[in-house]
Amino acid sequence: MSWETVIGLEIHAHLKTRTKMFCRCATGFGAPPNMLTCPVCLAHPGTLPVANRTAVEWTIKLGLALGCDIVPHAVFHRKNYFYPDLPKGYQISQYDEPLCVNGRFAVPGEDGDLEVGIVRAHLEEDAAKTVHLEGAGGRIVGATRSLVDFNRGGTPLVEIVTQPDLRSSDEARRFLQLLRQTIVELGISDAEMEKGTLRCDANVSVRKAGEEGYRTRWELKNMNSFGFIARGIDAAVRAQVALHEAGREVVQETYDYDADADTLTPHRSKEEADDYRYFPEPDLVPVEPEQALVSRLRGELPELPAARIDRIGQELGVSDAWALVTTGRDSQYEALVEADVPGRPAFNFVMNQPIPEGANLRELARIANATDLTRASLDAAVAASADPGFSADPFLEQKAVSDTAELEPLIERILAANPGQVAAYRGGKEGLLGFFVGQAMKETGGKANPKVLNELIREKLNA
Ligand SMILES: [Zn+2]
Repeated sequence: MSWETVIGLEIHAHLKTRTKMFCRCATGFGAPPNMLTCPVCLAHPGTLPVANRTAVEWTIKLGLALGCDIVPHAVFHRKNYFYPDLPKGYQISQYDEPLCVNGRFAVPGEDGDLEVGIVRAHLEEDAAKTVHLEGAGGRIVGATRSLVDFNRGGTPLVEIVTQPDLRSSDEARRFLQLLRQTIVELGISDAEMEKGTLRCDANVSVRKAGEEGYRTRWELKNMNSFGFIARGIDAAVRAQVALHEAGREVVQETYDYDADADTLTPHRSKEEADDYRYFPEPDLVPVEPEQALVSRLRGELPELPAARIDRIGQELGVSDAWALVTTGRDSQYEALVEADVPGRPAFNFVMNQPIPEGANLRELARIANATDLTRASLDAAVAASADPGFSADPFLEQKAVSDTAELEPLIERILAANPGQVAAYRGGKEGLLGFFVGQAMKETGGKANPKVLNELIREKLNA
């Protein structure tokens, strides 16, 4: 009997509002330490928070994109715990009355949609950043000093919690990729894992196939890339299956995934106790979004990535549409198709060339449709495609040499000059074909049509 993986995710994304969640300090990544602060976010006595309206509206927008219900009455709570990066001694978050609940997010796949339940999406403020000096990997263990940078403290943060509906590390990775693309396209967050503006924790357990209910889970924290999340989950699954099969107990625990060593290490938690003594934030009124506001925000939603994958997937197949959309190249693809490049060549063109921002895609479509360009002129055209006044014409004139009458004497000469390689090829070393093609390309200054060249040389060698 085989084991089934059960994964639920908790995702945090920084909202890129101009100002912080409860004060008017600017938000920003990379500013000198402690420059983006004020008495409110430093928790001086007597200061009062005021909720950021844009952050509330963006969270509603995200909730709608995730298929959530937007509640008529949401409440900010104080989540109490002590840590140096939390000057108030509590974080303002949402508890039992979050803004968005009961969503469903469909992840397109070759075998139909993977439906992932969304428990909630709520709004809170981020803590400041603690920097541990001289510890291993920036962690507190072995550190000699710790410094706090309050710039991040008070940055608006949405937290999204999924149902335990994901059944493999690959499903978790795909869900996250699509969620990230959705957040980015809503224009509410840069959602960059390497900058910490998107963070993900995973709750992982295993159970026997067909088993009802869930077994004890582990929480994996601090995984900062899609690849690490998948590998961290796989490591947890392997370890839990081994424990169960040895008849041992899986104890509920929080782990950090060490990508370098591919191991899980117990997380030294700043909140050992689970009791945060939540209570309603007395300095903030409840959030009561009017129906008209929710309708307006719903009307402002763009076509979402999942819908676009389905639509383009009808032409190309779902996995190619997935590759286009999750790398943000679908708008280039659609512009080329609009300019009469057929779907498949348009896909290959945008996936194979690094097309610059602001490229003239209408002109570039003429390049994409030309089948007889040299590699060099194709690259040069793409590189110049964002220049003002870019025209495909001069590049289209640089056609590759496909004329066999011109190429044949050249090939004869190369074969005659390399009798050893010719004999080796004829003796079975067919990999040497590339050597002859390379020689011919060199002699023509890269202008030969590689397809014609390949055919001609193979013909001569096999003659
Ligand atoms: Zn402030």
